[in-house]
Amino acid sequence: MSTCRRTFGIIGGGAIGWSIAYQLAKTRSDSSESIIVFDASLPGSSSWAGAGILPPAPNIVSSDPLEALQRLSRSMMPQWSAELKQCSGIDNEFHVCGGVYVARSIGEHASLIGLRQFWSEVGIEGRPLSQECWSNRYPWFAKQLPGQDCRLLFEVPDEAQLRNPRHLAALRAASQKLGVEARQLSPEQAARMVLTKESNIGPVLEWGTEEQWCCGQFVLAAGSWTTLLLQRWFGENNGTAAIFPVKGEMLLFKLPKPLFTQILNVGTRYIVPRLDGHVLVGSTEQEAGFHSEPTSDGRSQLIEFVEQTLPEILQFELVQHWAGLRPASYDHMPIMGRLGRCPELVIASGHFRSGLQWSIGSALCIAAILRNETPPIDMRVFQPGR
Ligand SMILES: Cc1cc2nc3c(=O)[nH]c(=O)nc-3n(C[C@H](O)[C@H](O)[C@H](O)COP(=O)(O)OP(=O)(O)OC[C@H]3O[C@@H](n4cnc5c(N)ncnc54)[C@H](O)[C@@H]3O)c2cc1C
Repeated sequence: MSTCRRTFGIIGGGAIGWSIAYQLAKTRSDSSESIIVFDASLPGSSSWAGAGILPPAPNIVSSDPLEALQRLSRSMMPQWSAELKQCSGIDNEFHVCGGVYVARSIGEHASLIGLRQFWSEVGIEGRPLSQECWSNRYPWFAKQLPGQDCRLLFEVPDEAQLRNPRHLAALRAASQKLGVEARQLSPEQAARMVLTKESNIGPVLEWGTEEQWCCGQFVLAAGSWTTLLLQRWFGENNGTAAIFPVKGEMLLFKLPKPLFTQILNVGTRYIVPRLDGHVLVGSTEQEAGFHSEPTSDGRSQLIEFVEQTLPEILQFELVQHWAGLRPASYDHMPIMGRLGRCPELVIASGHFRSGLQWSIGSALCIAAILRNETPPIDMRVFQPGR
């Protein structure tokens, strides 16, 4: 058994776990410090399944912690993407593509007016777009966007995107190049995983009697499975706000070539054009426990959305349909900080629909907490025991 007190053990290899590992590795000043990521690639893991939309971040420094997290993350994404590409050879395809926001119903209209007000307060550019202008820009779409019901259109030039699976692969490869160890577990091993605290050596992670790991500190970045593990280790009253899975389904079409470039946002649904002609359509929201299989109902909902929005897409091949489990919290805030009853355990989870866009800021904050430094933003509202 490793008894290294200078080891950071990260449980969960999604966008949050690997971003923390990468940040720790690239800022390591003490060569005796080591980092290990334990991951079980459970069905429904969220990070590879997402759309990779990075909405624009506030340009004005704000005291709101979520805005600060988004601002910090987004401001560093171009630099991280370039570094990751250089270190791993994998291009995550981060690029600023712009977004179009559409309101069709009265409710969507009201929300979009509110969103526009927010954009103007925090310095995000959002300008009205006419149907004519959209049609001239993308003459390939026979219908005006999105049919007869459109009430309001805005375009937001600073919206960006990346390709999640590539970003994850780049984070993992770059971290491993910088010396991070990756430990792949089976789902059975993950199901047996326990964290115990032995007084003379610190916290110990084990699965059955096969293997044990002692690390000075652990990070729990297990996405939707975070609360399951905390309940197993510390009981129902474990001192942490609950995290639960919210399933999201997605469709992928393959167009012969890229026919439009901007992300189309309609309420909580979106259409995301990739650079190679693939088009993502998402996403549903459903509380279905840990069931992560895509369903015919989810598929029908998304097809109906395309029919009402850009029906021309339906003439092309539907190449994939999948689902992922978003780690949600009741107040829609991530849960990040030390666990009161076991301070060697730091929680980093609950990023719901925004885990990619908040990943870098979260990694910087968690790395600072692990090293007993001051995090770059005020973390009080994210405390596990709130
Ligand atoms: C359809 C969909 C679309 C989305 N679109 C966007 C978007 O456009 N922009 C955005 O910012 N966010 C988006 N999200 C949200 C984003 O994907 C999540 O917030 C983010 O991926 C959460 O990352 P995570 O690392 O916390 O969780 P996960 O990616 O779920 O990672 C947790 C990991 O922990 C592992 N694990 C769990 N238990 C154990 C154990 N006992 N031992 C070892 N390993 C374990 C799991 O296997 C998993 O790999 C979307 C999500 C979905 C589902």
